[in-house]
Amino acid sequence: MTSTQQDVPCREARGETEFDAIVVGAGFAGLYMLHKLRELGMKATAIERADGVGGTWHWNRYPGCRCDIESLAYSYSFSEELQREWTWTHRYAAQPEILSYLNHVADRFDLRKDIQLSTSVTAAHYDDASATWAVETDSGERLRSRFFVMATGCLSDRQVPNFAGLESFRGDWYHTGAWPHEGVDFTGKRVAVIGTGSSGIQSIPLIAKQAERLYVLQRTPQFAIPAWNGPMDPEVMRHTRENYADYRQKILDSFVAVPFETQDHGAHEADPQTREAVFEAAWKDGGYLMLLAYPDLIFDERSNAHVSAFVKQKIQARIDDASLAEKLTPSYPFGAKRLCVDTDYFETYNRDNVTLVSLRETPLQEIIPGGIRTSGGDLDVDVIVFATGFDAMTGALLAVDIRGRNGIALRDAWAAGPKSYLGIAVSGFPNMFTITGPGSPSVLSNMVPAIEQHVDWLGALLTYMRDNGFETVEAEREPELDWAARVDEIASATLYPRADSWYMGRNVPGKVEGFMPFAGGTIMYREIVEDIAARGYSGFALDSRTPARTVEHATV
Ligand SMILES: Cc1cc2nc3c(=O)[nH]c(=O)nc-3n(C[C@H](O)[C@H](O)[C@H](O)COP(=O)(O)OP(=O)(O)OC[C@H]3O[C@@H](n4cnc5c(N)ncnc54)[C@H](O)[C@@H]3O)c2cc1C
Repeated sequence: MTSTQQDVPCREARGETEFDAIVVGAGFAGLYMLHKLRELGMKATAIERADGVGGTWHWNRYPGCRCDIESLAYSYSFSEELQREWTWTHRYAAQPEILSYLNHVADRFDLRKDIQLSTSVTAAHYDDASATWAVETDSGERLRSRFFVMATGCLSDRQVPNFAGLESFRGDWYHTGAWPHEGVDFTGKRVAVIGTGSSGIQSIPLIAKQAERLYVLQRTPQFAIPAWNGPMDPEVMRHTRENYADYRQKILDSFVAVPFETQDHGAHEADPQTREAVFEAAWKDGGYLMLLAYPDLIFDERSNAHVSAFVKQKIQARIDDASLAEKLTPSYPFGAKRLCVDTDYFETYNRDNVTLVSLRETPLQEIIPGGIRTSGGDLDVDVIVFATGFDAMTGALLAVDIRGRNGIALRDAWAAGPKSYLGIAVSGFPNMFTITGPGSPSVLSNMVPAIEQHVDWLGALLTYMRDNGFETVEAEREPELDWAARVDEIASATLYPRADSWYMGRNVPGKVEGFMPFAGGTIMYREIVEDIAARGYSGFALDSRTPARTVEHATV
């Protein structure tokens, strides 16, 4: 599939470089995609903005950053050798360990030689005549490739709210998603953390232990379940290592790609004692699995009311002051915002040096040189930490000037919200793919298996194209619209739309609202996409015409 030798001198003369595939991003998705393309014998490169590989785990170095899906499951399955040689030290590995793992993957599979770091892709334009993508970077390079893969991450486009006066602030400020590599010493400092999503919940207990005073500025209280994290039991590690095939099968058989056996009936159907016992067992197990204690918790209002009541009472028991506990208790359905997994989060509010500031009661007005002005008064601080999250799922895709057939911009195609066939491809954008794009289960599941599933599926598609002489593949408009309708329909049968979440795009001012991920679960999703593949990639237009590439160059 490599371009013909005859093409190369002309393109080099024009300052371009030729690839079969360009991958944007070198996190879990970009690394595996690059490996897969190499396996297929393609000439591929990955381009990454950061100065190292790892994606999320390169950027997010704030205190307490760790995965909230158990590491045994939050890891690649594609290489038996990799699985056998890696030992996780904790049930939920901390950021440095996950970053080491991803660096190990880059070395082990010799990926670095095809990764260009410290470079952002700024534009990618499709040229119909040559059926190639012209890709531009912030260093002024112009590259060309047949396939273009956005592995830019669902949670990589950081959001620092546009607060008036930030430029006047005399102290230091940080976003959790771009944390300094050398760390931040909060000793003796007065600190404000703005935001109580997952990053806030992970960092607040540790910042509180170091800082002289900590103000937590909360807009929406969160549900968080204790992680009960601790060192990995060597026996569990050994057993899993020897039985990875079974373990990975359990992941495939689970609704969110996490090994767990749920009940076979809804929570509201259970008798109260049994239900309480099931919730209690899930609580003791800890973490994200609370949402799976019964299969209908996010679908059925009655069942959700039961689990919400159970978790609220657990939260309130962790906070000494009843009125504070009230302010920290969420009012939306359990799980409708990304469920957080914590270590000592709620207990942190029992400390003397920690103050909760409810932005619902006293809204933030502006940043001032000495701190933060709220309607309830000024907070004098030396450091502000923005734990304000990301423009999720579409932010990194739309940050690049992507233009498809006839120059249509992705920003225009998605002006009314993202429409994508299966979360992988967009009509009008041939040979372009999005790993865990909007319309796929992605952030509603364990993301590493979700990434592997997309990459494997794409690998099979590219093999099919090669074996059958197809040059281009493009999602068709009708199936794409049908898929978007299906994503909406399933979302509206859940309780997700009832919360102001980033799943809905509600954390970014001006963003079009709509539930972005596919909420039907990873089992259903996999069955659908595999069936589509088995039917010769129905819903995709596959074209075998020979593009004008060679002809064009013969005449240059
Ligand atoms: C703090 C945190 C904790 C998380 N914990 C979990 C967890 O426990 N379980 C789970 O399932 N998921 C978790 N996630 C989601 C996590 O993002 C995914 O699990 C996974 O790491 C995504 O990998 P990725 O390769 O798709 O994207 P990323 O890891 O985000 O990598 C994308 C890369 O693309 C680069 N990039 C973007 N745009 C450009 C551009 N234009 N040019 C060049 N490079 C570009 C970025 O710099 C980034 O390095 C977490 C996310 C965060 C932020």
